[in-house]
Amino acid sequence: MSQPKSQNISKVQLLVTRAQREAALGQRGVTIWFTGLSASGKSTIAITVDQILTGRGKHCYVLDGDNIRHGLNRDLGFSPEDRNENIRRIGEVAKLFTQAGIINLTAFISPYIVDRDRNREIQEPRDFIEVYVECPLEVCEQRDPRGLYAKARAGLVPEFTGISAPYEAPLNPEIVLHTGSESEEESAGRVIEYLEKNGYLAGV
Ligand code: ADP
Repeated sequence: MSQPKSQNISKVQLLVTRAQREAALGQRGVTIWFTGLSASGKSTIAITVDQILTGRGKHCYVLDGDNIRHGLNRDLGFSPEDRNENIRRIGEVAKLFTQAGIINLTAFISPYIVDRDRNREIQEPRDFIEVYVECPLEVCEQRDPRGLYAKARAGLVPEFTGISAPYEAPLNPEIVLHTGSESEEESAGRVIEYLEKNGYLAGV
């Protein structure tokens, strides 16, 4: 659904502009959208970047797949339709954080190109940075931090990305991390370097 259900609603214009918020915070609001297989390292890198930047006085927040599925999206499962709605809602939440001037990092498998592209399209051009956390399936399966691959192989987790559900790699991501061969610190460092070089960490 692209239009609101009700016709009796109108938008309120805030008195504080985004530029004023960003000037107060000394940074640019942005969504850093991590995508990749389960156990590829999305959460690990996102929380590391969050910790480093917060330590530097920046205002960040991490939206993580499992956390959101315990609250906002607890009514959703893993069918293609539910995954689609899961990612749509996260995209809207991420947009709100961006507009509030926050550096928000999202860690969701988000396997479908169409869903990720839609979340890019609802934001301004520079507000969405797609980070492909590339890691071979064999490495993810070896790590298996939550035992999910073992369960999926045993047929206990239906529609598991990479095993019994597809993963569509990004065609044109801003950043590609190779977490199978680089360290967590290197990957996190590359994200921060991108933000520095492109002016996200400077005041407006
Ligand atoms: P995801 O959020 O993609 O499901 P997690 O971050 O939860 O993945 O798990 C990735 C696991 O892989 C963690 O246990 C992490 O310590 C490990 N790991 C090993 N090397 C790396 C790396 N270079 N980058 C990220 N995670 C790594």
